[in-house]
Amino acid sequence: MSAEALLPRLHRHAWMDEDVDAFRDQVRRYVTTEMAPQLDGWRRQGYVPREVWRPFGALGFLLPEVEERHGGGGANRAYQLVVQDELARAEMPANTAVHNLVTHYLIDYGTEEQKQRWLPRLASGELLAGIALTEPGCGSDLKALRTRARRDGGDYVVDGAKTFITNGFTASLLVVAVRTGDAGSRGVSLVVMETDKLPGFRVGRRLEKLGQHASDTAELFFDGVRVPAGNLLGGEEGQGFVQLMSQLPYERLMLCVPAAAVIERAVELTVAYTKERKAFGQTVSDFQNTRFKLAECATLAHVVRSFVNDCIQRLLDGTLDQEAAYMAKYWCTEQQGKVLDECLQLFGGYGYMAEYPIARLYADARVQRIYGGTTEIMKDLIARRLFA
Ligand SMILES: Cc1cc2nc3c(=O)[nH]c(=O)nc-3n(C[C@H](O)[C@H](O)[C@H](O)COP(=O)(O)OP(=O)(O)OC[C@H]3O[C@@H](n4cnc5c(N)ncnc54)[C@H](O)[C@@H]3O)c2cc1C
Repeated sequence: MSAEALLPRLHRHAWMDEDVDAFRDQVRRYVTTEMAPQLDGWRRQGYVPREVWRPFGALGFLLPEVEERHGGGGANRAYQLVVQDELARAEMPANTAVHNLVTHYLIDYGTEEQKQRWLPRLASGELLAGIALTEPGCGSDLKALRTRARRDGGDYVVDGAKTFITNGFTASLLVVAVRTGDAGSRGVSLVVMETDKLPGFRVGRRLEKLGQHASDTAELFFDGVRVPAGNLLGGEEGQGFVQLMSQLPYERLMLCVPAAAVIERAVELTVAYTKERKAFGQTVSDFQNTRFKLAECATLAHVVRSFVNDCIQRLLDGTLDQEAAYMAKYWCTEQQGKVLDECLQLFGGYGYMAEYPIARLYADARVQRIYGGTTEIMKDLIARRLFA
């Protein structure tokens, strides 16, 4: 069964036009033929080399939604989400999702000079971006961050440490959350750093993870790093927390798209496997338990995809509110975990073997409920609105 076979009865939203379909086909072809054969090697080495994103950028796949005058394709954000969908389907890591989130900070808050300086190089793949918020002492509670940026003449001097940073090892541009003022949210700012050969900046350990082995996740250290004051995002101190909060609906939707893609892939893989595997003289797909479990998973695949497609439409219409994004992030990623657990079970022992895609999808999925705001934080935010 293909995802297409699973989905044609879904309502097609206005954003799903023929141009988007044609773009999806191009991306899928490139990812399947040029990238997928290299994925095992990237997993073994623990990262995707930065150079991989150059041809991806040249084809217009890296930042299709950036304005043409800034080096992009001038499309809407659905095109970016289609790229993420296709990458996730092919088990690719989240590097370009993070790259994309950073780009949207520049698009929404950057000064014109900052946009011209960085967007064309981000769109071409010359620069790979990361975002450094989390610190050893704070993750969910970002207001507690301690990395400090002290003004010194025309520069900021940054001291501190970050951890769990996606693209931390491969990125050449970082948006870093720093404290420029007093404790609390009003003292937080975002600064942009080009990190190649930047004095005082150091990448620490590349962290070993449960899954997502092709994605580099690293510790970062800042020891008297001098950043020109012109690199303060938006040019005004103390705006960092507001900037972070305003980007969250899009960031959360960005995590739901791979959830939908991976759920569909898991159902496809499991239908195919259980049709072949025999036990007690019949195929595993003949057991009623298998059929019912997969019927449940296919239903969840439909509902998740419907919800995600609806959120994409609302994003494009400018009506995607924070609550819908919290709900989508928590619910879609929880369904991803549930479906993968059910599907893996139907593979028996083979489901636990790393050479089987279902095992890798299972391990890769676990972090979806943690990063980008944990499930508990999402529920807390929804509940606060309910009881406000
Ligand atoms: C693979 C990976 C990649 C990542 N990439 C990045 C990146 O690129 N950039 C970046 O900045 N960060 C990144 N992170 C960090 C990620 O965003 C944080 O791990 C996440 O926000 C949770 O923070 P924490 O790990 O400090 O957990 P904690 O905040 O310590 O939470 C621990 C537990 O307490 C719960 N909890 C916390 N507060 C509450 C509350 N108020 N109510 C109820 N429960 C609560 C949490 O839900 C969780 O279950 C990444 C993490 C991983 C694992």
